[in-house]
Amino acid sequence: MEFIDPAISAYAEKHSTPESSALQELNRETHARVLMPRMLSGHLQGRVLSMFSHMIRPKLILEIGTYTGYSAICLAEGLIPEGHLHTIDINDELQPLVKSYISKAGLENKITTHYGNAVNLIPALQGPFDLVFIDADKINYSNYYKLVFDKVNSGGYIIADNVLWSGKILEDTGKTDKDTRALQDFNEMIRNDKRVENVLFPIRDGLMVVRKVST
Ligand code: SAH
Ligand code: CA
Repeated sequence: MEFIDPAISAYAEKHSTPESSALQELNRETHARVLMPRMLSGHLQGRVLSMFSHMIRPKLILEIGTYTGYSAICLAEGLIPEGHLHTIDINDELQPLVKSYISKAGLENKITTHYGNAVNLIPALQGPFDLVFIDADKINYSNYYKLVFDKVNSGGYIIADNVLWSGKILEDTGKTDKDTRALQDFNEMIRNDKRVENVLFPIRDGLMVVRKVST
């Protein structure tokens, strides 16, 4: 399901800051050479993530789900000068590609890549994080939220991607597949969490933006 008229999406992209040459090249190479290129955030969502990050001015960011590094580069753009981003992915085959584009973007001192199952790696990571971007396996979204929550500063943000899941989120909870059900449960959990304020932005595949108000 397209949430927004494709002509409107194209207009919005055209009237947003273009991708840097490194991101444009990474976008092209991901589409040419990597499986499931639809997972890459892309021009408009990438600029949204960069804009959010600039608004937050984070010192420490955690990303769960690196893929080819596109969103990591976008998020790192808003770091304060002494800031740092940690990103985790289970698939280490993409590491050489990710490293080369982090260098092309001039961010080799700002981004650390970690490889392994995020469920196992998060407990060993030291916060406090000002921004967490959840974008790995949908089945674990609620686990990731619970694992990171105490490591997020009060006033910090958790952003989760694909929370509208191409519109499948509207399907009957009892009749849908596991991933859709996990995302429905995640969205319900956020709605009922009194410790946070949140907005579900219907951008691309749905971005849940959560601000931690109290611990
Ligand atoms: N954030 C990227 C896209 C991420 S795609 C962007 O916007 O450009 C989702 C990624 O999650 C894939 O690369 C996949 O390998 C990774 N992933 C899936 N399950 C995981 C797990 N249990 N732990 C860590 N990463 C996982
Ligand atoms: Ca995604």
